[in-house]
Amino acid sequence: MKALVFDGSLKIQETPIPQPKEHEALIKILFSSICNTDLEIIKGYMGFTGILGHEFVGEVVNRSSDFYGKTVVGEINCPCGTCYLCKTGRKTHCPNRTVLGIQGHPGVFAGYIVLPEENLKIVPGNLPLTSAVFTEPLAAAIEIFEQVQIKPSQHVFIFGAGKLGLLISQVFRLNGCDYTTFDTHGPKIKKAIETGIHAKELSALGESEKAEICIDCTGNPAGINLALAHLYPRGKLILKTTVAQSEKIDLNQIVIHEFELIGSRCGVFESALRLLSQELVNPQPLITAIFPFDDILQAFHTAMQPDSLKILIRHGS
Ligand SMILES: [Zn+2]
Ligand SMILES: [Zn+2]
Repeated sequence: MKALVFDGSLKIQETPIPQPKEHEALIKILFSSICNTDLEIIKGYMGFTGILGHEFVGEVVNRSSDFYGKTVVGEINCPCGTCYLCKTGRKTHCPNRTVLGIQGHPGVFAGYIVLPEENLKIVPGNLPLTSAVFTEPLAAAIEIFEQVQIKPSQHVFIFGAGKLGLLISQVFRLNGCDYTTFDTHGPKIKKAIETGIHAKELSALGESEKAEICIDCTGNPAGINLALAHLYPRGKLILKTTVAQSEKIDLNQIVIHEFELIGSRCGVFESALRLLSQELVNPQPLITAIFPFDDILQAFHTAMQPDSLKILIRHGS
């Protein structure tokens, strides 16, 4: 099969089709999408080499699987299931885990992948494949609500109107919060407003304006300091940005203002699939372009452009 391999540079290579073991599924990839994490990995984040990609929808093709013939999405963390963190409900933090296309597990920019069956969720029949591919990033957006109690009466600032920022904004809109999404990039704000998000240019945010909850999904190392500057004392800062380059922050201000900092990563797939299939979140306006797999290098180039939101890859014929 053809696969997009990163080993310091990106190239399409012929690689063997992976072989599933017991309780594993062989999945033919139908659509995948490019995440900011992929763009950071090629800048050195996580030190990963191998087949990239973790956002996908596919079909299970090995008859030995209970999911044979089903259209599925899959959780990206493959934990050991036996360590202390696994046994105390923190499987996504298992120190022995591999992570699809990020750590020790070949990713989805390929013809096929193998994943444990317990990672799979069946895609509801009414859900377009080009929406199902958003399950993983939407689950990451929903994770905020698993971690933090957010009251509809609270003021929320979301920094970054990129792919993840717009999904997070849609979930906050559902919650009834008084939220505003900020970005420095005019076309992204325009797009956000078109999709019904309450969005403004960052330049419209006064220096003294503050919120109870700030979310950094700028994808920029400087985002954390920006978000901290607009947080009320005892406010909560939720960090969604993962970047190759890290930023220095003054910890004194966290002590003085009693800020709470909450790192936030992967979320629950069931909730994401429910919001998508009930059309409570609509990811379709976030699709900038769909490329065939053979043009995936060009797709990466497009994904790096400042105006781009989600780039999808169509696999197979
Ligand atoms: Zn992702
Ligand atoms: Zn474990």
